This record gives sequence, structure tokens and C-alpha cells, in this order.
Amino acid sequence: MTVKTRLYVDQPLAEGNQVSLTREQAHYLFGVMRMAVGGAVALFNGRDAEWRGEIVQAGKRGGVLECSMQMRDLQMPPDLWLCFAPIKKTRTDFIVEKATEMGAAKICPIQTDFTNSERIKQERLQAHAVEAAEQCGGTYVPEVANLQKLSAMLDHWPEERQIMFCDEVELGAATSLASARRGPWAILIGPEGGFSPTERIRLHNMKEAHVVSLGPRILRADTAAVAALTVWQAALGDWAS
Ligand code: SAH
Repeated sequence: MTVKTRLYVDQPLAEGNQVSLTREQAHYLFGVMRMAVGGAVALFNGRDAEWRGEIVQAGKRGGVLECSMQMRDLQMPPDLWLCFAPIKKTRTDFIVEKATEMGAAKICPIQTDFTNSERIKQERLQAHAVEAAEQCGGTYVPEVANLQKLSAMLDHWPEERQIMFCDEVELGAATSLASARRGPWAILIGPEGGFSPTERIRLHNMKEAHVVSLGPRILRADTAAVAALTVWQAALGDWAS
């Protein structure tokens, strides 16, 4: 029997393990999806692959599933961070959702000189990543980091991690990923206001940075994030074999 519904749970998964549901998950499975004892869902926790979970108890406020067999292996994304300056709420949610679907390993909201938003709701964004992983068949959920300053992040930049610096000033210039090395990478996308001259000079001088154009048009930050993830995945990620 195929299993359509997927659930992320923060509990260990192994044969015979029982997993308890939160109130929201119980409401979703038994209220919205109309599932009952004997039904099955796919369970993942980002560490232990994907398991078939049989419903053994179903209630209004909770329920219990039992892991019966492993359905798929854990599939780790490439070691790619998406660093972006948060924009309006729904567009930021969109970026987190798309980064999860596209296979980013970590999502880092950054405060740049011209960042529009001073705060983020980290928990809410993390919940969006979980939902996106449930929906897209991912067995891994990227961590959404807390908001950090770009300058501070660059002060402690790990030297082995290359940067795909998406610079709107380079409109139409050729992308330079074709001959780039594989390994740990980070994509960097600026806010609606773009990067400040200070940030641009600093990034252009970093040996880890590859300045990349996303074509001759200026994209909105959310579009730019998806475009950059696509270009990177096709050239250096798990789309390219
Ligand atoms: N206000 C800026 C545009 C910012 S677009 C201006 O008018 O110049 C938001 C972010 O998306 C940019 O900081 C950059 O990281 C990325 N971006 C958008 N279009 C791009 C392009 N054609 N090439 C490279 N990066 C781009």
C-alpha cells in the first residue's frame, strides 16, 4: 500500500519504535486527512531515513504511530548555505520554502547595510522548512539560523567555504561557476536595496567569493534566491552528477 502523507517528527525512528503525535499532527491526520488506526504515514526526522509509521492510537489531542519498516534512505543535501537578507514576511517565507525544496543544507538570514527587516521569527521560518520538507519528499530539514549581521559573518568566514556572490551590479556578465570547485558553498543574496558599496568592495576582495550574475534583468530577492539555487544545483550540486 502506498503512503501519501509524510510527517516530520523529532523522535528517534527505528523498527518497532513508537512515536507520539502532537496535538496539531493528530488534528491533521485524524481530523483533516480522516485517517484512523490501521492507516500508515511516512515518518522522517532528518537523521534516521524514512519509515513507515502505522497508526496504533488515534485521538482528538494525540495519537501513536509505530515504525514498521524503512522506506527510504536518508538523503543529505549538498553542503550549501543560502544566505539572504530577509524581506517582507510572505516573501521571506517563500524563500525558506523554496530553499528547502531546492536542497539547501542551511538557511542563514542576514542583516546587511540595506536590509529591510530588523527581526525575523526564527521558529516560524523553521516550521516553514519542516512543512516544505514534508511536502517535497525530503528526508532532511535545513536549519534556519538566527538573524546575523553580514559583516560579523564575514569576519568569521570559514575559508574552505566558497561564496556565490549574486551582485546585481554585474548585470549580464558571464557567471563563473562553470570552472568552480565543488565543496562547501554559500549563496549570498542581497535585500531590495541591494548591497552597499562597502559590502560590495569587501566581497569583491574576498578570495572565497565568486561574483555571479543572474542575467540582464534585476530580479526581486525571492526570485534571485530561487534562480541562484537553480544555477548552483545544476553546476555544482546534486543535479550535476
Ligand atoms: N535594488 C537593487 C536590486 C536588488 S535585487 C538595484 O536596483 O540595483 C535583490 C538581490 O537579488 C540583489 O542584491 C542580488 O543579490 C540579487 N539579484 C537580483 N538580480 C540580480 C542579477 N541580475 N544578477 C545578480 N544578482 C541579482
